[in-house]
Amino acid sequence: MTRKQKKSLAAIIAAAVLLAAAMVAERLFGDGLNEWVIRGIFIVPYLIVGFPVIRKAAVNIVHGQVFDENLLMTIATAGAFVMGECDEAVIVMLLYQIGELLESVAVGKTRRSVAAITDIRPDRANVIRNGETVEVSPNEVAVGETVIVRPGDRIPVDGIITEGSTAINTVALTGESVPRDAAPGDRVVSGTVNVSGVISVRSDRPYDDSTAARILRLIEESASRKAKTEGFITRFAKYYTPIVLILAVLLAVVPILFGNPVKESVLYALNLLVISCPCAIVISVPMAFFSALGASSKSGVLVKGSGYIEALAKLDTVMMDKTGTLTEGSFRVTAVHPEHVSEKELLEIAVMAESFSTHPISASLKLAYPEEIDGSRIGFVNELPGMGVEACIDGRIVYVGNSRLMEKYHAGWHECSLHGTTVHVAIMPCGHTGHHDAPSCDCVAEYMGHILVTDSVKAGSAEAIKALSGIGVRRTVMLTGDTDEIAADVSSQLGITEYRAGLLPEGKVKELEKALSEKKKGGAVAFVGDGINDAPVLSRADVGVAMGGIGSDAAIEAADVVIMDDDLRKLPKVARISKKALRIIWENIIFALGFKAVIAVLSPFGLCPMWLAVFADVGVMLLAVLNSLRVLKND
Ligand code: ADP
Ligand code: MG
Repeated sequence: MTRKQKKSLAAIIAAAVLLAAAMVAERLFGDGLNEWVIRGIFIVPYLIVGFPVIRKAAVNIVHGQVFDENLLMTIATAGAFVMGECDEAVIVMLLYQIGELLESVAVGKTRRSVAAITDIRPDRANVIRNGETVEVSPNEVAVGETVIVRPGDRIPVDGIITEGSTAINTVALTGESVPRDAAPGDRVVSGTVNVSGVISVRSDRPYDDSTAARILRLIEESASRKAKTEGFITRFAKYYTPIVLILAVLLAVVPILFGNPVKESVLYALNLLVISCPCAIVISVPMAFFSALGASSKSGVLVKGSGYIEALAKLDTVMMDKTGTLTEGSFRVTAVHPEHVSEKELLEIAVMAESFSTHPISASLKLAYPEEIDGSRIGFVNELPGMGVEACIDGRIVYVGNSRLMEKYHAGWHECSLHGTTVHVAIMPCGHTGHHDAPSCDCVAEYMGHILVTDSVKAGSAEAIKALSGIGVRRTVMLTGDTDEIAADVSSQLGITEYRAGLLPEGKVKELEKALSEKKKGGAVAFVGDGINDAPVLSRADVGVAMGGIGSDAAIEAADVVIMDDDLRKLPKVARISKKALRIIWENIIFALGFKAVIAVLSPFGLCPMWLAVFADVGVMLLAVLNSLRVLKND
């Protein structure tokens, strides 16, 4: 138990004892005592348990948030007090506080279990300095320093293995419980656990930019980004509380007009206020959302806030990038077709131009040309999203990219006879070293040939697409900058219903906006991308889903949901978790309101005193909370 919980338990016990004493005193001397003296006795336990509620109601009113359960409780119990039903008022507050305490214990439990899942913070690093191993905190490890990681240790910083081989357990980050083998040259990330061998890791980024630090920041943000959960409750309270208040006033006033005794009518109205206190809902809804966040992160998907759980549960359209999302994103060079130069020269020029690109195509070229390149020959480089790159090499401008780029500079390109993505290379014959968009030069680029690269579709993609339609996604759309031919091929392999090819990043944004305007009412549009030149689309979608959280910088920041291990099948999985959370939320709302309606009908017949109503309400709340916790259970 926390200190706060202990304090609240003490208050409950004190108030209960004082209440019992006051009730005994009232029995024994009741007739002799002035009714205001009796009130004076009861007010002590009332304030002990009721003060936090009254204060919260007041604070919320000051903040402009008038209608909440605290106000309902305050009006009802204060009214009961004035009417002389003091014991009733104290019992109501007492039961409410007991409920709050139980709830806080339950929430604490969930939070701890979620925290355990996401416990990826490395606490120390054994760094080699001047030939000796020194233990420091991970954020003191500089880029380029080597750390020794022993079996059982959490890897403190992102880096490359320089010595030793081992198996790495990535379950905390990816949900994947089978350890991965790692050997010298492989990249490992902080937050994962070294399982079997001693390894040396050369750090390649500061701890603050490391995978563990970034993910921890995200988790903290998503926990504090409560606005959208409250959105759900506030939306609900906006209608619910005023309706209840109006009903209560009518119930008090109408019978009086018909000659009923004033006290009886007012008491019934107050009773209604207590009955209608929505604490079961107010408490269980955020718990269900929170449990959904926990269940998702357990399976290796980070959801950055409860609002996205709502959206994931209502997916209508899923738009996807091709490269790296549906396909492996690791191209292989399968043919080099130079014109006027040698194969080696063509590759060399292309690799130099691509030397700063992070695009998967660039990586494949570098693999095919392992020789060292002379950086001094490269002038500026400029990435042209969706087309390729332009670069100044040996004082001349070189274009490397798709046919769209060739068209733009009027290079005499032609298609490759083989199947795959064609990377064309062209060079400006003149000595201009600036960008050629300037109209002053009407040079035509000279075609140097092309390099053919191929990519294969990912193992789980087809299954993921099928699962998405299985959970009610109406449209799956592939958006790509690649050619129509390849797009048609990939989408027929995967069973995707629609595709748009030849898109620039702006084109993807346009397609997304169109889908947003065409979506089913109340539905959501998701975009799934790998974060490489997809950031604008990711942020525009109702839910932006990034693949490959591990090691990729841009994705983690721009997206709302991060699939840590690149497996698209996780998307239908979290959608199912989200659906379950929402279904449970509605179950709780209907159950709680239905129950309240029954009590509200019974109470005017004297069948349900106020304290019993509250007692039952606490029971409903506990059931609702237990129901919410079911979200955490994987099925
Ligand atoms: P996708 O939509 O499949 O993720 P991109 O928008 O990243 O593709 O790129 C679209 C096309 O632009 C690629 O298929 C490729 O032909 C070309 N392209 C983009 N970047 C590069 C690059 N760095 N080098 C060569 N070609 C590129
Ligand atoms: Mg892409």
